[in-house]
Amino acid sequence: MDNQFDVNALAEKAPVVKQIAAGEEVVWVNPKKAPRFADVQDSLPLSMADVKDAADRLDRFAPFIMKKFPETAPRHGLIESALTPIPQMQRRLQEKYGADLGGRLLLKRDSDLAVAGSVKARGGIYEVLKHAEDLALEHGLLKPGDSYEKLASGEAMEFFSRYKVQVGSTGNLGLSIGIMSAAVGFQVIVHMSADARQWKKDLLRSKGVIVKEYENDYSVAVQNGRKESDADPMSYFVDDENSQNLFLGYAVAAERLKAQLDEQGITVDAAHPLFVYIPCGVGGAPGGVTFGLKQLFGDDVHCFFVEPTQAPCMTLGMATGLQNGIAVTDVGLTGMTEADGLAVGRPSGFVGSVMDPLLSGAFTVEDGKLYEYMRDLMETEDIFIEPSSCALFIGPEKLTRAPETAAYLRENGLLEKMKQAVHIGWATGGALVPPEVRKKYMETYL
Ligand SMILES: *Cc1c(COP(=O)(O)O)cnc(C)c1O
Repeated sequence: MDNQFDVNALAEKAPVVKQIAAGEEVVWVNPKKAPRFADVQDSLPLSMADVKDAADRLDRFAPFIMKKFPETAPRHGLIESALTPIPQMQRRLQEKYGADLGGRLLLKRDSDLAVAGSVKARGGIYEVLKHAEDLALEHGLLKPGDSYEKLASGEAMEFFSRYKVQVGSTGNLGLSIGIMSAAVGFQVIVHMSADARQWKKDLLRSKGVIVKEYENDYSVAVQNGRKESDADPMSYFVDDENSQNLFLGYAVAAERLKAQLDEQGITVDAAHPLFVYIPCGVGGAPGGVTFGLKQLFGDDVHCFFVEPTQAPCMTLGMATGLQNGIAVTDVGLTGMTEADGLAVGRPSGFVGSVMDPLLSGAFTVEDGKLYEYMRDLMETEDIFIEPSSCALFIGPEKLTRAPETAAYLRENGLLEKMKQAVHIGWATGGALVPPEVRKKYMETYL
């Protein structure tokens, strides 16, 4: 299945490929980013109206979610996370790693999202609910204007139990799809790649989810899941690589974040640029969030993805322009990483092409640093997030110091604004990690 690409030939067009293939940490600035968001906004395949539609759908489901997951009651059935300043961690990045950030650093804590304990609670749950709504409307279980609390009834669960949902996952997507599908009443099968952690499989099985395990990487789990689902007319496959529904579920995060910034009196405008650092696997989560943020903040927001050095699939796909036509193993990387949520060898082609004119760039990070950052955050702010999420910290560490991003700041007239800048690290997972696994992480040194 894997091809072998000539690294030297690829590097002629995209010099970063050489470093990527050598397994080094890279800093990549996207040469295809449009100078002005307004020039490309209308040519994107999705719009703000689509994001609004998704947000409205989640609002309609809020009574259902509150009924099934009482822990969401304080937010009235909205699954949302806090935005927290982390000044002590900012100081740690400066003192221990030489970061020279300017402005202030905050953490968007999707690591604590209700139901799934990761950013997947946005996309994964949205897609399951959208499918449930489609079925309920089609079969007259729900009429426009009804309260969606109705869908929590025994009769509704009985109806949904005739249907099946399947997904391929490295772990967290499986958790979010599995937990919400089980709550709706669907039969659910999660096809898990070799990277998936045991506790995630155990947790899913405890909720009645069927977990199929694969010796291979994520793309094989996805392939097989899709095949089995396609063969069953009652089955729906959540396609992490191409799903616009997942993408829109993630994109809803942006307007929620904007409201939080407003509440905290934090300004984002031309004089106060916003920098966002998001861990990236197949691309759906960081791509959706970035899409939403660009719609709201346009040229004032600068989004960077972060990937492991052995699985930098999105950086490789975008830098070469080959998108999902190239996998990390094609340039000699293993695709193996401790960052299980980011262990993806081939990116979403859909996301990559949407990101071409929007994304500012990407960083890659060595696995050993993830555990360092994890301990740093725990020590300085008493916040736990899982190793995959910790990838984000390489962004603020390097932004102003790496020659590539320093040039980006200079060329975009940002240098003199850095004192007023806002930096947000997107913490993508952690809340569901069991105590004994946390302890093991805390004692891991690579
Ligand atoms: C899935 C995941 C991501 C990235 O999401 P993609 O949609 O795969 O790019 C980041 N962090 C964690 C913890 C995840 O589980």
